Amino acid sequence: TERLFGGFKKTSDRLSENLTTAVSTATLDDATLEEVEDALIMSDLGPAAASRIREKLKEKRFGLQISERELKKAVADEIAEILRPVAKPLEITAFPRPQVILVIGVNGSGKTTTIAKLAHWLVEEDYEVMLAAGDTFRAAAIEQLATWADRVGVPIVKGPQGGDPASIVFDGVKAGTDRGTDALVVDTAGRLQNKRELMDELAKIRKVLGRLNPEAPHDVILVLDATNGQNALSQIDVFKEVAGVTGLIMTKLDGTARGGVLVAAAEQYGLPIHAIGVGETIDDLRPFDPDLVAKVIAG
Ligand code: GDP
Repeated sequence: TERLFGGFKKTSDRLSENLTTAVSTATLDDATLEEVEDALIMSDLGPAAASRIREKLKEKRFGLQISERELKKAVADEIAEILRPVAKPLEITAFPRPQVILVIGVNGSGKTTTIAKLAHWLVEEDYEVMLAAGDTFRAAAIEQLATWADRVGVPIVKGPQGGDPASIVFDGVKAGTDRGTDALVVDTAGRLQNKRELMDELAKIRKVLGRLNPEAPHDVILVLDATNGQNALSQIDVFKEVAGVTGLIMTKLDGTARGGVLVAAAEQYGLPIHAIGVGETIDDLRPFDPDLVAKVIAG
């Protein structure tokens, strides 16, 4: 909790300051509500969530006296209402094993680090985990993932740079099936510049997977960088279309004032949020606790 609060400090400071400015009067009137809505938008919660929260506050407390503390509490409650339905930890339930988890996202979003964190988390939960280096486009990506696999202590299936990602994934499922692996976490290329190619690549991976297990991929997790603010949201749009996203992990919530974008994502897309990244080490993946996050965001 300490680290989560620490991680979210900038987001929390920003909204908190703005909310403090909003309660210049002691009554929750239209002007104050307007200021609250502006504060929420400035904190990256997005217009839809901001307007919903404003309406809820109006419904429940219009014309009533409200202190700064009460306002923050009320805002936190409404944020939690938005976040709760999307808080869904990743569950390993696939039968037959392995559960195939594709991880997608633009380069730099924290995809590789998140795969390592996720693998570590699953290992801690006593699952057998294997990685597949499906981002064959960048040589560095394969090496980086292999280094993480070593550090986390899990096997990795990889091929040469420029190799066929679908065949890596095929090998991964084969090896995973032989070894009794519970979860196969697959890195994929993050090239959004070339949507067509990425789409074809993912389609091919799906086709190969589907032949081995019609249920696979079981999860398609999009990794988003919170520091990108609203831009992270447009990535959801694109990847939903290109890749059939089933859930989100948002990274870099430490050290950004834009953590409110989590709320915007929840409100606009309703996709499950599995976890959040709050740092660069393998221990820095947190379960997504909606009440705690809401409290931290509202300051
Ligand atoms: P990829 O290109 O999407 O695979 O991104 P990487 O996993 O290589 O991460 C890009 C950079 O972001 C690296 O320097 C990571 O250490 C850093 N990073 C990843 N996740 C987090 C996070 O949750 N918090 C912080 N502060 N940095 C992160």
